Formats: sequence, C-alpha cells, structure tokens
Amino acid sequence: MSDLNFPPLESGVMFWAGRDPAETIAELKGMDFRCGQLAIPGDLDLSCAVEWREALRAADFTVYTVFATFSGESYADIPTVRDTVGFIPPATRAEREKRTCDVSDFAAVLGAPAIATHIGCVPHDGGDEAHVAVREMVRRICDHAAARGQKFALETGQESAAVLLDFILDVNRENLGINFDPANMILYGTGDPIEALGLLAPHVMSVHAKDGDWPPAGQPDALGTERTLGEGSVGMERFLRQLIHIGYQGPVAIEREAQDPAERIRDLATGLELLAGLKQSILKG
Ligand code: MG
Repeated sequence: MSDLNFPPLESGVMFWAGRDPAETIAELKGMDFRCGQLAIPGDLDLSCAVEWREALRAADFTVYTVFATFSGESYADIPTVRDTVGFIPPATRAEREKRTCDVSDFAAVLGAPAIATHIGCVPHDGGDEAHVAVREMVRRICDHAAARGQKFALETGQESAAVLLDFILDVNRENLGINFDPANMILYGTGDPIEALGLLAPHVMSVHAKDGDWPPAGQPDALGTERTLGEGSVGMERFLRQLIHIGYQGPVAIEREAQDPAERIRDLATGLELLAGLKQSILKG
C-alpha cells in the first residue's frame, strides 16, 4: 500500500479496540507510533465508531486497516484453530459474514482504506463444500467492502502460500489481497515466510512484523511459540530486505499478543527499536 502519507516501511502497530479510544491512542502515540491496524473484538458494540473517528482525528493517528475477529475463536492448537477460527465452521458462517460487513461499515466511519480477518484454514480441495462456501462468502464481503472503497486483506499463515494463492485467484475480486504475517507461517508450520512472501508479492496489501519459533518436532497438532521481535525464527532483517525487494511501500505493523499488558508494551518498544535500527543499516548498506 503506497497511498498513505508515510515513508516506506513506517513502523505501525497492531492494537485492539475495547478500552477508551483516546487513552488507547495516547499510549501508542507516547511510544511514537503514528499509524496502525485496529483489531475489533468479536463482542465489541460497534456503535463506538464515531468516538474512535474523533479520537483518531484529535491525535492525528491513522488506522489503515480494521481487523474483524469473532466470538468463539480459539488459538489453543491447530485442530482447535481449524474448528473455531474464521469462516470455516459452518454453524457460525452467517453471523460472521454479517459481523465482517458490520466491521466494514465501522471502518468506513473511520475512513480506513481496508478491512482484514483470519478466514481460517482454507481447504486445499477446490471442490470441497467449505472451499466453495467460504469462497462465496469472501466474494460477498469483497463486494460489500468495495462499495465503501475498501480493500479486504486475508491474514496469512494457516495454509501454505500456494494454497492461499489458488484461493485468491479463485475468488477473483480486485480488492482482495493479503495481510502478510511472517511469524504465522512459522507458528503453523506452513512454510518459509520469506519464500512465501516472494510468491504472494502481487497480493500483499499490508504486513505484520511478528516473530516466533516453529512447532515442536513430532507434535503435528501443536502451534509454535510467539516471541519478542528479533528473538524468533523469522529473521527480521531478511524479512525487511524481502519487503524492499518486492517493492512493498506500506507500513510494517508490529504485532505482539502477549497476555501481560506490561510485557506487550515492553515488547512493542523493543520491536520499534529493532526495526528502526535495521532500516537504518539496510538503507546505509
Ligand atoms: Mg498477524
């Protein structure tokens, strides 16, 4: 994304709605963030959109993606993700489609140019019932978003780059792309993220800077472990170099989902410093 008024690879932040908007933004501004991606809890009352818009304007903070998440999702292990996350579970498809469209309406109030979500583990077989149903859902959501001038980004990681690429081509909507998360590829064991980024390059709308380690050997159901940026297996310098190589110009949103708020803030600050240092050394070299 190059239509935002920031230098290429501006460090942004992935953060959550749910607390007071002005306080939330003040905390991020205090850390020197100027932009980010706002995640919406599944049970959040979306009537707070105007309050968010006003708080963002007052603080001159840009939200360039609004992420939909859903009540009932669990990331405990890979089978649980498959059963609970995104658009795959049949019982919640209708309500989650409506919720995603409601989040698109919320994003429109904020003036955000994109929405995003984890759609779950896309089935490999194009003839599979879930594949067809989810493809149709994604088409309808793309059309809803397009009518509001928005892109729709699929969070990566729960399938290989090749499967995701096939799915995007199958959906066949101009405003569909991906939010590339290099750590998820590792956490789910779905492939080398730097290689995947090359394959998915034309479809990258936004990216996360997140780090993590591969799942333990011999435990096919286990997820890997999220780490502080720079301490996992992604290789942040390699990641930034690949972003530059593919011509990505948008912000890089640091994502850290630590349970302890103090740890999260500390890790965001560490991530910010790491990215600033790497960008400086890459640009020099
Ligand atoms: Mg992510």
